[in-house]
Amino acid sequence: MTTDSHYLPLINGEFTAFTDETFPAAEAATGKQLATITRSGKAEVNAAVAAAKAAFPAWAATPAAERARLLLKVADWLEENTARLVEIDARDIGRTVFELPQDYRQAIGQYRFFAAAILTHDGWNNVVPGGWAIAKREPYGVVGQIIPWNVPAIMVSFKLAPALAAGNTVVLKPDENASLSTMELGRYLAEIFPPGVVNIVPGFGEEAGAALTAHPDVAKLAFTGSSEVGRIIAHAGAARLVPVSLELGGKSPNIVFPDIEDMDAVVDNTAFAATFCNGQSCLAGTRLFVHDEIYPEFMAKLTDAFQRIQVGSPLDPATRLGCLISEKQGERVMQYVETGKNEANLVTGGQRVEVPGHEAGWFVAPTIFETTNNTRIAQEEIFGPVLSVIRWKDFDTMIHEANDVVYGLASGIYTSNLRNAMRTADRLEAGQVWVNQYVNLVDGSPFGGYKDSGLGREVCKETLDMYTQLKSVMLAEQVPPPFYV
Ligand code: ADP
Repeated sequence: MTTDSHYLPLINGEFTAFTDETFPAAEAATGKQLATITRSGKAEVNAAVAAAKAAFPAWAATPAAERARLLLKVADWLEENTARLVEIDARDIGRTVFELPQDYRQAIGQYRFFAAAILTHDGWNNVVPGGWAIAKREPYGVVGQIIPWNVPAIMVSFKLAPALAAGNTVVLKPDENASLSTMELGRYLAEIFPPGVVNIVPGFGEEAGAALTAHPDVAKLAFTGSSEVGRIIAHAGAARLVPVSLELGGKSPNIVFPDIEDMDAVVDNTAFAATFCNGQSCLAGTRLFVHDEIYPEFMAKLTDAFQRIQVGSPLDPATRLGCLISEKQGERVMQYVETGKNEANLVTGGQRVEVPGHEAGWFVAPTIFETTNNTRIAQEEIFGPVLSVIRWKDFDTMIHEANDVVYGLASGIYTSNLRNAMRTADRLEAGQVWVNQYVNLVDGSPFGGYKDSGLGREVCKETLDMYTQLKSVMLAEQVPPPFYV
């Protein structure tokens, strides 16, 4: 795998920094240093925002079709470079080479979707007595975007594609644990976009991130990450009265009815829902509600499915569960596992796994707890391969418990009865409801959370509304008499 030995921020079309301070990009499974990255601070953020501000008028005036053309080039470049970028991510963040190509398919889809969607995202115009009324959509200006580490390619696409399509310029801060593939993409973005349109400031949350959210020339903030930091970003937006969109945590209910036809398929799907992305996904179906009638049989099969999940090197194509992103995350997950052992019934897993040659990696066995909905492991986002299973009997009680968390991002329902699916979907407090499937984010389908899971919707045409503001223009054929005449 080839990467540079050092990556600089992308500011005004150039790779440049005002500091010599760096941080390492380390291979998650081995701890080996892959590259160093400039630790951007206020100076880099200020320069990036100034560049984005200067680039904004020309970019906003660039025809949407031309902006779309460049986004389509980004999609093509990602498609051509997927294999290389997958390896970079697998090493950088410990996700498996089996799973990562899907991240890139999703990311590529986003650039293409917004390239197309912007061409039909008009305001409106109407004939009114004596003239015309026109509603125009205009970009905000400089958008500050901050993303997490779990799915870098997807996060960058969710943020850049709609913001740029709509005519905003961007300063993007990747996560300090997962910057490499974004920095690689930055090299291509620098080639094709006019200077200043896209700027990337790698660095830490409290430094580069805080400087970006506080900057007076940033006209809109977009963030994906924890609900805790989401609140900090929302406060920063409130202080300057700029709009903020947030995609935050989750503790999603996945509900199994007793009438499922193919139990094996449902078992596989619910196991996947809890463990894809090494369990480090805000979407993960981490609370599995299994109906009393099928509980023993379902649990036996689920336990077997969890025990069959192959844990190993992220680079091995047979691996289905790689390692957690960092020691900090590993310790956090293991602390939750210990909490679980005290407050719930451990069914399988519950320990760290050693993978020879990868001793530095935090591999955690796929873990199932039987619990009630009020335990800490059932209420709090763990971000690891840890599933809480809750037995249910009464529909209303189950719905109450499914909704009885602070989050409301995703949910799943497995049933062969349409009425069950419809009445459950109606009552779940979640932005996403999947029926007889999980984690299916189709380009164009709204994605975002209820309650503490966020504000705003991504992936869809309405996202362009988030990145534009409406201006009402009234045109008169001739100057009318004033109202009071
Ligand atoms: P996670 O729990 O997924 O690590 P975080 O919410 O901690 O998510 O971090 C997500 C992103 O927010 C990262 O890019 C991180 O650097 C950034 N971040 C963390 N703290 C702040 C802050 N105080 N201000 C701005 N950005 C922050």
